[in-house]
Amino acid sequence: MKAIITCVVCPVSCPVEVEYHEHEILSIDRNQCKLALEYVRNEMFDPRRTVTTSVEVEGGAMPLVSVKTDRSIPKTQVAAAMKAICTVRVKPPVRTGDVIVANLLGTGANVVATRDVDPAATGAG
Ligand code: SF4
Repeated sequence: MKAIITCVVCPVSCPVEVEYHEHEILSIDRNQCKLALEYVRNEMFDPRRTVTTSVEVEGGAMPLVSVKTDRSIPKTQVAAAMKAICTVRVKPPVRTGDVIVANLLGTGANVVATRDVDPAATGAG
């Protein structure tokens, strides 16, 4: 069987022609470098994505904190991951690198903060 997979390892974005049988790649063509092979193999047989989103901060100087998974997770679990993350609320202070959700959906990936959020100013004084 044949497929065309756009390699996104670099901005060239080669349209790689792939010939495959079941879980084996027989040949690739139109790639400008050898990095395409591993990318195409992963994308076809074990596609993964890093999840980036934001989480509500209760009483924070900012209403949301940006977060991401510290490793990629199976693409098939991204929708469930987004649903799980959107139920999470955190309290400030939040620091870059803080683990917001450990072992997201059993994937082994942690959801970590990618910025700092301090508590809201009280306005007193
Ligand atoms: S095949 Fe090589 S040159 Fe082409 S997009 Fe992938 S990494 Fe870039």
